[in-house]
Amino acid sequence: MTRLATFSVTLLLAVFNAAAATKAIKFKQVWDGHRIISNAVIVVENDRIRSVTENGAVPPSVQTIDLTRYTAIPGMIDAHTHVTYYWDGAPGTTPRRQGRRHVAVTVVLSQRNGQKALEAGVTTIRDLNATGGADIDLRDLINMGAFVGPRMFVSGAGLHGFANRPGVTDTVAEAIKQTKAVIESGADWVKVFGSTGGFDNVTGDQTVSYEEMKAIVETAHAAGHKVAIHSYGPAGARDAIRAGADTLEHATDMDDETIAQMVQKKIWYVPTIDHNQYYVENADVYKFPAGAKENLTDYIHRNYETAKKAYHAGARMLVGSDAVYNGFGLNMRELTWFVKMGMSNEQALQTATVLPAEMLGMEKSLGSIAPGYFADIVALDGDPLVDIEVVIKNVRWVMKGGEVVADKTMLGR
Ligand SMILES: [Zn+2]
Repeated sequence: MTRLATFSVTLLLAVFNAAAATKAIKFKQVWDGHRIISNAVIVVENDRIRSVTENGAVPPSVQTIDLTRYTAIPGMIDAHTHVTYYWDGAPGTTPRRQGRRHVAVTVVLSQRNGQKALEAGVTTIRDLNATGGADIDLRDLINMGAFVGPRMFVSGAGLHGFANRPGVTDTVAEAIKQTKAVIESGADWVKVFGSTGGFDNVTGDQTVSYEEMKAIVETAHAAGHKVAIHSYGPAGARDAIRAGADTLEHATDMDDETIAQMVQKKIWYVPTIDHNQYYVENADVYKFPAGAKENLTDYIHRNYETAKKAYHAGARMLVGSDAVYNGFGLNMRELTWFVKMGMSNEQALQTATVLPAEMLGMEKSLGSIAPGYFADIVALDGDPLVDIEVVIKNVRWVMKGGEVVADKTMLGR
């Protein structure tokens, strides 16, 4: 074959691929992150959005996807998940009493949790704690295109209290060492368990000191990474805010001064209220001891009241499901709580789109339907600005980076 012929074949293939990779999608309307665009046509080229046009025409000879029955919203972002916590529901096991698995097996199985998140319209997750680097491996396999799953921003293993550890005398030095190690291992974020609390345990006793938190935040920031601090109770939350964490997770019973500082420092608050509702509903699945449901219900109430107070004080809040095990798929139920505390449907939707994109530092490529952004698009049956439950129950079709990753448009027709 001559050089010219080789060139022509290559050129032809390139043209063919470009044509195949361009799609026009027609929607009844698009909520782009800020406003409604009626009779919209979104043109997608490869993994990005090329244009969004009101009453738009489909460009000639381009593959068209007709979703004119549906409303499109940006692919959603869940700011707090545990995608590597996998449970297959095998008889005789509970989510927390399963046989040990090698990390490679966990990575493969975790795709099922990721698929459920995608089907719930979640195309990006921030995953906050995993063992053995499973989250880092999963993130990389998804980014390579080897696995299908949501885009992941991960923390590796969360850091726990540094006191009372054998051989550790300087806890601040130990905190700095562990922060550097988790970043070195490939984590995007640093997660700190600043208090007790988790599963049926709703105590919130501070376990990481202010000095340790401050050292972690300074070390991470110096390396260009951000920090999420878990605190179930008010003391850890107060010190997390003082120390300048980037996001605060859970946090009940915060005092007015802590909330005021959180607002002033623009620290993101991820209250994860619905997570404990999920535990109430699954108390028997987990075989929680007697009294667990009552403790959880009391915690939910305090969690909700704290979040409501923070919201009305001007806190920047985000949807975080804290999804684990069979909780995947329920990722966006937090929106109901946000609307209940006074957010408009549009404000609530922003806590799962444009705002978490900003939290991740990805506001120029995620969380909106606009030219140049990743083609992460969710089709809903109904109008989410009228009824927020539409987002939770009526996801019909999901595109991530230009690829259709969930399609229920043919069901029940
Ligand atoms: Zn969590």
